[in-house]
Amino acid sequence: MIKQIGKTPILEKHTASCHCGKVVLELSLPNGVEKPRRCDCSICRRKGAIVASVKLDGIRILQGEESLKLYQFNTHTAKHYFCSHCGIYTHHQRRSAPDEYGYNLGCLDGVNPYELGDVPLMDGVNHPADQQ
Ligand SMILES: [Zn+2]
Repeated sequence: MIKQIGKTPILEKHTASCHCGKVVLELSLPNGVEKPRRCDCSICRRKGAIVASVKLDGIRILQGEESLKLYQFNTHTAKHYFCSHCGIYTHHQRRSAPDEYGYNLGCLDGVNPYELGDVPLMDGVNHPADQQ
């Protein structure tokens, strides 16, 4: 359970924001930062973000809902959200676990995700939903 990253304590209600600040989210993180990872699937390898998990009811949009854009591809199961002004990916509804959002750890206020050190790499190229 990760309750602190660098000098920043992870709050039970921690805010997250895009780069320009139009989009502000409140994340419910009673267990701190869970399952931080990187992923090498076609979209994650391009955005390069370190992602962690939160339950679907664990994200509240405090402001900027109108600035969030939805991007979908392939099976159109996952929902990828990004700020339409600054282009920063904030969160996505996961395909491998649709009851969870992944969120951009770098958007958590005060958090430098690189202070986590080594983060596991998910094998997104061989996604379970693509194995028929
Ligand atoms: Zn923005």
